Amino acid sequence: MGEVKPTILIHGGAWAIPDHLVKDSVDGVKTAAKVGYNVLNKENGTALDAVEAAICSLEDNPAFDAGTGAVLNAAGDVELDAIIMEGKELRAGSIACVQNIKNPVKLARLVMEKTDHVMLVGQGANIFAKEMGVPEVPKTDLVTPEAVKYWEEYSKYKEAVHDLFNNKIKGEQGHDTVGAVAIDRQGNMACATSTGGITGKRVGRVGDSPLIGSGGYCDNAVGAASTTGHGESIMKVILARLVLQNIQTGLSTQTAAERALEYMEQRVGGAGGVIAINNKGEIGKHFTTERMPWATISEKTLEYGIELKDHYRETVT
Ligand code: ASP
Repeated sequence: MGEVKPTILIHGGAWAIPDHLVKDSVDGVKTAAKVGYNVLNKENGTALDAVEAAICSLEDNPAFDAGTGAVLNAAGDVELDAIIMEGKELRAGSIACVQNIKNPVKLARLVMEKTDHVMLVGQGANIFAKEMGVPEVPKTDLVTPEAVKYWEEYSKYKEAVHDLFNNKIKGEQGHDTVGAVAIDRQGNMACATSTGGITGKRVGRVGDSPLIGSGGYCDNAVGAASTTGHGESIMKVILARLVLQNIQTGLSTQTAAERALEYMEQRVGGAGGVIAINNKGEIGKHFTTERMPWATISEKTLEYGIELKDHYRETVT
């Protein structure tokens, strides 16, 4: 394949983001797109390094439900899930239910690169982190006052996990999962997704985000996708793989994303969001929730938005 223009696309979680969080959410995805693009734009910048760097910036940003600032489970603790995947050899790594790792996406990448496995969870993931020299942080370091506030408001699993995505609860709950997809000059692609899940989830509940094909999927022959939204619905339709399947039938990336979310809504009633890129670098993004912050950079043009009608543009240097 000839040289492709490097492109990165980020999402910051699909849900009814309250007005007071709009600016931080949009600024956060714009910054992450720049961080990822700077990596892609280096001489040998890879899509894999770019999505990892972009996700780390979002995990470190307390405005998002990933890493620091993650939402709390029914017991009031963080439990973090993440996945990373590359499209050349379809290698993937993921972790679930870890509590004291600052950047879960980095640990997911180590699972991909240093083990024969795709997924490690809980205690096993922590044992592996120790072996790899990944520092553990006190789990309370990742807990923000906002996360405690949301948890106090929405502490019941049924309400929080099911109803938050079906507009049955109004209010200021937070669940900003983060995701990134990218293509580099060599035409290699990657995706990554990281989350604290949904406020008030049961202890040990794992959503779609770390599941290959649901929270993310990537294949250089087709494209890359990262998802967000009601995990229990996303898993049932294997949403990220469904977007790629739609691309394989000849649909544009945008239509592929829209059709996949329509299918999920019709079949299982869940709402969510998708970002995707095909192997020519064409992007698609869609959401069936009120808002989803997104940002993309290609050829020094930054485009971004948070509502369906939005499409802002800026030049980046
Ligand atoms: N999909 C995530 C989960 O169910 C939540 C989200 O995307 O906001 O864990």
